[in-house]
Amino acid sequence: MVTEREFDSLQMKDVAVVEVPVDEDVAARRLSKAITFPTISNQDRSDFDEKAFNDFHQYLVDTYPLVHKTLKREILGDPRRFSLFYTWSGKNPSLPPIVLMGHQDVVPVVPGTEQQWEHDAFSGDVADGYIWGRGSLDDKIMILAILEAVEMHLKQGFQPKRTIHLVFGQDEEVMGPEGVKQIVKELKSRGINEVALVLDEGLPLTGGLFPGITAPIALIGTAEKGYTTLQLKVAGPGGHSAMPPKNSNIGILAQAITKIEANPFPYRITQPVRDQMRFLGPELPEKFHEVLEDIAFGSEPEMEETTEQKRALEYTENPTVGWQARNTSEDQFLKYMLTGPQTTAMLHTTTAVTMVNGGVKENVMPPIATAVVNFRILQGETVQSVLEQVRKIVNDNRVEVTELSDSIDPSPVSDPCGKEYRAIEKSIRQTWGTPDLVVSPYLVIGGADAKYFAASIARNVYRFTAVRVESAADAARWHGVNERVLVREFAKSIGFFHQLITNVEEL
Ligand SMILES: [Zn+2]
Repeated sequence: MVTEREFDSLQMKDVAVVEVPVDEDVAARRLSKAITFPTISNQDRSDFDEKAFNDFHQYLVDTYPLVHKTLKREILGDPRRFSLFYTWSGKNPSLPPIVLMGHQDVVPVVPGTEQQWEHDAFSGDVADGYIWGRGSLDDKIMILAILEAVEMHLKQGFQPKRTIHLVFGQDEEVMGPEGVKQIVKELKSRGINEVALVLDEGLPLTGGLFPGITAPIALIGTAEKGYTTLQLKVAGPGGHSAMPPKNSNIGILAQAITKIEANPFPYRITQPVRDQMRFLGPELPEKFHEVLEDIAFGSEPEMEETTEQKRALEYTENPTVGWQARNTSEDQFLKYMLTGPQTTAMLHTTTAVTMVNGGVKENVMPPIATAVVNFRILQGETVQSVLEQVRKIVNDNRVEVTELSDSIDPSPVSDPCGKEYRAIEKSIRQTWGTPDLVVSPYLVIGGADAKYFAASIARNVYRFTAVRVESAADAARWHGVNERVLVREFAKSIGFFHQLITNVEEL
């Protein structure tokens, strides 16, 4: 018997907007000041401005007196301790706690772009209705919005049912090895093995994200890709360039790089992508429904070795890529998704050659040549399987392939239908609720500190940057120039966390 599948809307209906009274100007001045502390994460980790972090910590103490009177604050991290860990004890401490996250560090200004900033990156200027500078979107805004919301609740005499932890890492922009990774370790050693809900940064609320949907969309990240960086190293005889060997170290390395790029990881449609299509599909025009319904209800085939050409593909650059579409809907969907780098990244483990090194003088054969390749690992593969696959592809014992980074496997996938996800959706609708607002889960192709919670002690981990930006083009301000946020939108961010703290009472 064939049962009819339902492809009806999963959007939460009839949520009334709640106006949270926020003094916009006062709040804007507080975020503005927070931006002036240059808590930069440089790639060179010896270049770390301890004073900036210490001053920022003191600033928070001075600015949020009730928070610092009521919550317990610890400064954690290893070996350097600059991460903030707050405990707001709940009425029922035996219940698994809630974790709200943000990160203190910001990326540096790219040298040469200083002149393009309309307001200096660390000025925190409030002008033309915006708060300007590094951290205004990524990610001091979340720290300040959370603290503002907690301070408001405390003023009203509120105490949560569950304990709420605030976790503000020190090094998210460089993978968080000293900050949140260590905090999670510490929590486990204290016997905290279960967290009810984690919310960390993700994408902001914005319009124009999906062709066919004109309404603003809030995407809630339910999973993150994994991460590893491999080094390829060729060490052979160096010597004088007047009598070179047949194959130079650089030549051997170049061949290895070419092989790796010629053998991208196969495309697969994983559960978080299917979940996203289940939520977005019904909101799209009718003509897309058939395909997206098949994607939403499809299941992932077993991983296969994909070194052989499985079928001719006019729409991939590389015909040796394994193709696992099993029906016309998958074919059409993949064809569409593979038109852009962002949507392509949702479908496979990406390969990015980011550094090469070898040679210091024009007439000397370098004894060592190295390359660095960064992989963002799709669910279903692991750090180990990527390493093994790359060694297999290179297939040359003159090339040593080793792990260079602090690597992490892809995260588990959190439930987009549970009450935890719904508490976030409800808070979004109470804050930005236009009736046509679309909320959907998605796969995070970058990463955030939340991955350390997802990897061990939390099942319900979600990523959403609780702010609305004016257009999808504002994405360029993340890590780019002229990072800024609308003053009135920062007030909404505070309202969101105020509501979320209220709504998680129902969990
Ligand atoms: Zn960030």
